[in-house]
Amino acid sequence: MSLKNVNRINGTSFVLYIYITKTYIVMMMFDPILMVITLVFMGIGMFVSSRLKSKFSEYSQTPLQKGMSGKEIAEKMLRDNGITDVKITSVEGQLSDHYNPLTKTVNLSQEVFEGRSIASAAVASHECGHAVQHAHAYSWLTLRSAIVPAVNISSKAMNIIILAGFFLGAIYHWYNQMLLAIIICQGIITIFSLITLPVELDASKRALVWLNNANIARGDEHAKAEDALNWAAKTYFVAALASLAQLMYFIMLLVGRRRD
Ligand SMILES: [Zn+2]
Repeated sequence: MSLKNVNRINGTSFVLYIYITKTYIVMMMFDPILMVITLVFMGIGMFVSSRLKSKFSEYSQTPLQKGMSGKEIAEKMLRDNGITDVKITSVEGQLSDHYNPLTKTVNLSQEVFEGRSIASAAVASHECGHAVQHAHAYSWLTLRSAIVPAVNISSKAMNIIILAGFFLGAIYHWYNQMLLAIIICQGIITIFSLITLPVELDASKRALVWLNNANIARGDEHAKAEDALNWAAKTYFVAALASLAQLMYFIMLLVGRRRD
């Protein structure tokens, strides 16, 4: 469901969120409030992603009446949208499907690529939705791609700042400076996760409109495809909310310290 821009970020902000929280482990040991915020969102995230997985396994076993494979659906959707310079490939892993704007490839997991189910149709058309966005220079996608380098730097910098902060904070009492640096990094990551929302929702919308218009999935089948894509969208909502909650918390910490 993700949009691969740079290897480092696997696309899904959900993955990014889990990755970021790893850097919080040290901080959390010293900060129970941060621990509660992080654990609550991790709990919600795990619930949503397990629901997503069970929806996908259910719809993977629901055959598409048209009998087309994910690959055939992707080919047709690209063709119908007049896109001729995007390749469709099969990749390893489960739910590893993504569109790569750098190589102009729609990468589908084996299950989706070969599958002739409602889940395959939903995922294949969603990824093609990203290819259509790219072809039309959809503004949220352009913006998202533009800030990817800053996000990569920020997530790496977070680790260094937190580690260095312990020494600098202890020796020079640079707590406020350290907190400000964390806020800047977290701010960039939060903006990225918020920009990801319209990109993901729009790709699903394009997919669902096309599935109906091209007569690939209608009625009950269309409703199921929509349900699957809605659950995928929820993972991005949780990730964005978690990132925002962490940012707000750091800002409150800094404001509190300045007042003291
Ligand atoms: Zn997507």
